[in-house]
Amino acid sequence: MELKVWIDGHLVPQNDAKISVYDHGLLYGDGVFEGIRQYNGRIFEKEAHLKRFWNSAQAIRLPMPYTADQLGKALDETCKANGFEDCYIRMVVTRGIGTLGISPANCKRASVFIIADKIQMYDKELYTRGMAIITASTIRSHPNSLSPRIKSLNYLNNILAKWEALDAGVPEAVMLNHLGYVCECTGDNIFIVKDGELLTPSEESGILVGITRQVVIDLAQAAGIPLRQGNLTRYDLYTADECFLTGTGAEVVPVTKIDNREINNGVVGPITKKIMEAFHQKVRAG
Ligand code: PMP
Repeated sequence: MELKVWIDGHLVPQNDAKISVYDHGLLYGDGVFEGIRQYNGRIFEKEAHLKRFWNSAQAIRLPMPYTADQLGKALDETCKANGFEDCYIRMVVTRGIGTLGISPANCKRASVFIIADKIQMYDKELYTRGMAIITASTIRSHPNSLSPRIKSLNYLNNILAKWEALDAGVPEAVMLNHLGYVCECTGDNIFIVKDGELLTPSEESGILVGITRQVVIDLAQAAGIPLRQGNLTRYDLYTADECFLTGTGAEVVPVTKIDNREINNGVVGPITKKIMEAFHQKVRAG
């Protein structure tokens, strides 16, 4: 079945959904995006995604050609047009068509498109068995270079780390920041459990402030699980009692091996299971 894609106010067949080769989103990665989920016919954490989208655009000085209300409606419209109740949505804004020079001043109007589709980030069995990850030698972008808080169309930093994971035969890599502290994975945030406490790198670590991360923080609080945000080292990962990753695409996925060190003897731990369960309940409830 050919999907319908929303481009600048029109729903067009997937094969006609095209962007100019002069679009600076393609030429220079000049644009920002969101990955969003729809569960049970509802856009999950819609406000948070729209807010981050706007903040990303504001940070790169990209005037949004629509209101948040218009794009919020467009998200629902795109899911509906494709008959989806549960799907993954990619919403992208590019600088638009310009000349071959880098200057964004030549781009007259930003372009927005929305794709609704299915996604399977990791094999299903990894959600019960746990995943092996490595630490990448490629560090996360320095926050004063390109802030990782901007969900930009330039993912090369993460892609280079992803190559390292694939070369090592694992699905994901954790990246350190410019100071050598644990930052995040190429497309997910990371949590560990130590002595009953949940630990995750703080916003200052140079992470993309994940929406799933925030949902998990709230769920942990509601469940009375103590949580601390701060600097984590590779040693902290290796000696963790439990570890899991969070992301819109990944949801909550357990990690049972890091750089060939088994975590909890390679078994998914009880707090991870509790968080996964609470997360699935929450997404179903809306
Ligand atoms: N970090 C990076 C680098 C990401 O690309 C993502 C999203 N795929 C995340 C973390 C998780 O963020 P969210 O929970 O908002 O999807």
